Amino acid sequence: MKDKIWLSSPHMGGTEQSYIAEAFAENWIAPLGPNVTGFENDLEAYLGHDSHVACVSSGTGAIHLALDIAGVSAGDEVLCQTFTFCGTSNPITYLGATPVFVDSEEETWNMSPIYLEEAIQAGIEKGKKPKAVIAVHLYGMPAKIDEIEAICKKYDVFLIEDAAEALGASYKGRKCGTFGDLSILSFNGNKIITTSGGGALVCRDKQTKDEAIFLATQARDDAPHYQHSRIGYNYRMSNIAAGIGRGQMEVLDAHVALRRKNHAFYQALFQDIDGVTVFTEPNEQVYSNHWLTAITYEKSDKKQIIEKLNLFLQNLNIESRPLWKPMHLQPVYKGTACFGDGTAENLFKKGLCLPSGSNLTDLEKERIENAVRTYFS
Ligand SMILES: *Cc1c(COP(=O)(O)O)cnc(C)c1O
Repeated sequence: MKDKIWLSSPHMGGTEQSYIAEAFAENWIAPLGPNVTGFENDLEAYLGHDSHVACVSSGTGAIHLALDIAGVSAGDEVLCQTFTFCGTSNPITYLGATPVFVDSEEETWNMSPIYLEEAIQAGIEKGKKPKAVIAVHLYGMPAKIDEIEAICKKYDVFLIEDAAEALGASYKGRKCGTFGDLSILSFNGNKIITTSGGGALVCRDKQTKDEAIFLATQARDDAPHYQHSRIGYNYRMSNIAAGIGRGQMEVLDAHVALRRKNHAFYQALFQDIDGVTVFTEPNEQVYSNHWLTAITYEKSDKKQIIEKLNLFLQNLNIESRPLWKPMHLQPVYKGTACFGDGTAENLFKKGLCLPSGSNLTDLEKERIENAVRTYFS
């Protein structure tokens, strides 16, 4: 059996271990230290737009904190993009709030501004205005974020931008991770850069960053003894993990370029394969990091063709994965409302993610190309 080709695997730049060695030399083996501060500074400089970054132990934890900062509590409703990974929606449940899902639009596959407004109005009509909105840039493709922002402003609803998959992507020249009232990033092992596991809150001001760090370190009051007036979390990032992050920041732009090159490779490959569309930016305002390249099959028997292709690649030790199953169809969210027209459900049936790592070699691309051509011939 040939070596496995992964969907998206960690890709070290080379200097990560020097930051870790420094942490060991100085005994900063803790969820604070110079690497955490350094990584936060690097992210703030990269994102621009007066960003204030607090690094935490996961992207899911960052969303949990963001919802807490937004004032979400038991009994509230939170509007959430249905076409996403469970890390986006689960923290709503952690807080005892209820998710209400919003469908996608066809162009970016992200939250439909039309159904978002419909969902907010429906909430207001029944006397329960949603407490927050979570919009996602899935697969690194920027959502119609200025329309989503405008709607949230109009109805005065807190907007959380889930940029877990979108570091390095931008919308109208502005980096994803700088929109809405709060943004989150993920540095899980499969993301565009990794700290082995980790995440960040991107805040619009220093005060919110301080609140995030306070909550992420057990909400300790200023007292000589342990004193708490608020329930906190143990969510701060380790100084070892942050060392990996500092090294990864040195290669972030290069790795975005490599992912975009993979996308161009798939565009060329599928150009003459009938029925297959490679998911691409709808216009020049949108700049995807192409974290994962995805295809859809547009002819009859879509579900079957895609499922069989997935198995065919698996048998050749090439990892692929169906597009994310919408949250409102997940057994765990059974019975939860979703505003929309079935766009996300349709995408789930007809789409597949293909190997997209920045460490994909030419030889691996050749194997993928041969497999795809064999399957469709
Ligand atoms: C990965 C991911 C998360 C969660 O991040 P973790 O660091 O894995 O907890 C949240 N939302 C989206 C869209 C993701 O892809």
